[in-house]
Amino acid sequence: MDVLRCLGTPTKFRYNPRMRVDILTLFPVMFQGPLTESILARAQGEGLLTIKFHDLREFGLGNYHQVDDSPYGGGAGMVMRADVLVTAIEKVTELGRKDFPRRKPHRIYFSPRGRKLKQAKAERLAKKPWLLLLCGRYEGIDQRVIDGWIDEEMSIGDYVLTGGELPAMVLVDAVARQIPGVLGKEESASQESFSESLGRKKEYPHYTRPEEFRGTKVPSVLLSGNHAEIEKWRREQLQ
Ligand code: SAM
Repeated sequence: MDVLRCLGTPTKFRYNPRMRVDILTLFPVMFQGPLTESILARAQGEGLLTIKFHDLREFGLGNYHQVDDSPYGGGAGMVMRADVLVTAIEKVTELGRKDFPRRKPHRIYFSPRGRKLKQAKAERLAKKPWLLLLCGRYEGIDQRVIDGWIDEEMSIGDYVLTGGELPAMVLVDAVARQIPGVLGKEESASQESFSESLGRKKEYPHYTRPEEFRGTKVPSVLLSGNHAEIEKWRREQLQ
């Protein structure tokens, strides 16, 4: 399902994907908004990014489309089943091969145990043509899926969320803005916090009109018109 069609947003979709992202989730509707508005909607409309959603429930077992089961060894909560998840990953990979016949997707599972997402990682992932994102729920997923069918376990921070959907939205947003042409001005992404050109540091403060606001003035160097001095000041402000 392509996100805009799936979520009912009308668009002229030109199918010329620069990057394809397949998202496997129990809650595809959660993505409405974050991935269907503003810059990300435009990127998809222009064919720079194609996002497909796959409802894991459709791969569930039996009349109730069961996707989880109780953990071996006991304990609270449920675990997402390996057979359901691997069937879904294989089917989605097969579907995507229509776009990328000889490739396989870079498969990411979101988990608090994973390596933390950083800007440099988002930049590297933006160069990959095809990502497959698996959103966990409940206590997580059967370890055998991670061992055999996942390339990378990724965390978005040291806290526990209800599911992998928010991490998937965060990753797609961070990666998409690194794809050439997605942002209006190319330099907008290159001069941002954590970018290579800013030495991976946090960027300098910004000011706009009015020149004086409730007794606080804009730093005078920014009004000087001296580009070398402005550049020097901005470098000094990096954290
Ligand atoms: N039992 C897991 C633990 O203690 O680490 C937490 C599972 S969490 C309730 C359910 C799902 O949310 C996970 O499988 C994962 O996909 C996602 N998730 C939660 N927190 C996350 C984080 N900080 N980064 C990435 N994914 C996260």
